[in-house]
Amino acid sequence: MKYECDMISDLLPLYKDGICSEASKKIIEEHLAECPTCGKMLTDMNDSTIDETIVKEKNEVINSQAKFFKKKSALAGSIVGGIFCVPILVCLIVNLATGAGLTWFFIVLAAILVAASLIVVPLMMPKNKLFTTMTSFTAAVILLLAVCCIYSGGNWFLVAATATLFGLTMLFAPFLAYNEPVKEHLSNHKGLAIMGAYTATFALMMTCIGLHTGPAKFFPMALSIAGPLVAMAWGMFASIRYLKANALVKIGGCFASYSVFGWLLDVLVKNGATKSASLTGVTVQSNSLAVLSVIGFGIAALLIILGIIIGLAKGGKKNA
Ligand SMILES: [Zn+2]
Repeated sequence: MKYECDMISDLLPLYKDGICSEASKKIIEEHLAECPTCGKMLTDMNDSTIDETIVKEKNEVINSQAKFFKKKSALAGSIVGGIFCVPILVCLIVNLATGAGLTWFFIVLAAILVAASLIVVPLMMPKNKLFTTMTSFTAAVILLLAVCCIYSGGNWFLVAATATLFGLTMLFAPFLAYNEPVKEHLSNHKGLAIMGAYTATFALMMTCIGLHTGPAKFFPMALSIAGPLVAMAWGMFASIRYLKANALVKIGGCFASYSVFGWLLDVLVKNGATKSASLTGVTVQSNSLAVLSVIGFGIAALLIILGIIIGLAKGGKKNA
């Protein structure tokens, strides 16, 4: 019997998976009917609790490792944060000792916050590291600008802050849109949200620059130049992202929006903005703009027609 049990236990995995021969199957089943030991072996094999235990143990190991690293990085974050406090304290004492009150201390404090936002924040945050680091860095830089502006008695804060915000949005928006926690909220509209963020921060910056430099001169010129350019960018984006057609038609759409808004730019610059543009030394070659716009139309039409023909030919092949 013992000899037979060894043989049966060798064959049991094949039997369980149903890949043994009919003859072996018959022998195994006859043996199982008589032998409770081998019967138990088979039920253990079928029992998935072993697999579950292994998975559970594996997850426990991974979790404890993750916790360990989180603890370590939080500790490193606290240490770096502590180191940052030393110059802050030194400056506080020196500033209080030498001056009548706290003046440049706040500049040092804000500057250290900028550094801390890049080093301490990613170490301390348990999740959404990228999001919190980028937003806290942006906030710290704007705070630094505000403190410097107040300290120097300037009136340039809004211009500098909105320009910084626009620049950092250009840099950060794509990363933020594709990472937690923003990713889920945007689902299928990431490109749209990024373009929206660019346009909104650009408009905010231009408004602040206009209010700072003199609205009467600035806004007509800025609108006639930036307006068509922003519209062109949206036209190209819409063509690439939302046009349900092949690549040729999409590129044709890009050329078409370039032509429409290039032509618009040409018209606006000729009718009015030229005066204010020349006042600030900006000269726009409007004749060459018109020529380029016509060439753009030609290329767009060619690409779209070619794209449609190729699309129809492919569709025809599929149907045939
Ligand atoms: Zn047996």
